[in-house]
Amino acid sequence: MAASHDQLGLIMQLRRRGLHDTHVLRAMELVPRELFVDKAFVDCAYSDTALPIDCGQTISQPYVVAFMTEKLAVEKHHKVLEIGTGSGYQAAILSHLCRRVYTIERYRELQKAAEKRLQKLRITNVTTIIGDGWLGWPPQAPFERIIVTAAAPEPPAALLEQLADGGRMIIPLGETRETQALVQIDKDDGQIEHTELLPVRFVPLVRGRVKRR
Ligand code: SAH
Repeated sequence: MAASHDQLGLIMQLRRRGLHDTHVLRAMELVPRELFVDKAFVDCAYSDTALPIDCGQTISQPYVVAFMTEKLAVEKHHKVLEIGTGSGYQAAILSHLCRRVYTIERYRELQKAAEKRLQKLRITNVTTIIGDGWLGWPPQAPFERIIVTAAAPEPPAALLEQLADGGRMIIPLGETRETQALVQIDKDDGQIEHTELLPVRFVPLVRGRVKRR
């Protein structure tokens, strides 16, 4: 699918804001964001803003998606775990950059809708899972990269454990909506190093049981 005029405009805007990773920008070109937003917001699909999706959740701002993806420094052979599938947009971007993506969502409704969109785009290297992201996905661990797209007060212990040695996690950390920072966590020889990247606002990473719908 050819990128639209609006889509290319957004990508130029991201470039102007300092995002230059050509692989990431190419992936943003390959994924039509209009398929991932509610019908009511299609006209804003290529505005650089977060938008509401079902279940009171949001699809992240394109700048934040591109920034997080760039910082994740994904390589072709990597297996990536995403927590918080939401619309499936971030997972679709990642699918063009690595070998396989596992993405966990707690709302069945969102997982199903994301799965449908990925199928429509013939993306076959993303596995969507219903579950509690606080627990990660032990059957496929370790992961070279982990991206968390909901904010937690601290990095979930299970995710630190499931991060491969030499691996990297990008996660928004903060107790409230007002106090979150995007953090890069690198694991080397079992040692954990934190680097603060950017102030952000994400929906919370909710603990506990999966909601049945
Ligand atoms: N990455 C998404 C945006 C995510 S919004 C996109 O590209 O559209 C954050 C998502 O995290 C929401 O859908 C929310 O339901 C989900 N979430 C919150 N807590 C979770 C948990 N414990 N496990 C799995 N998903 C969770």
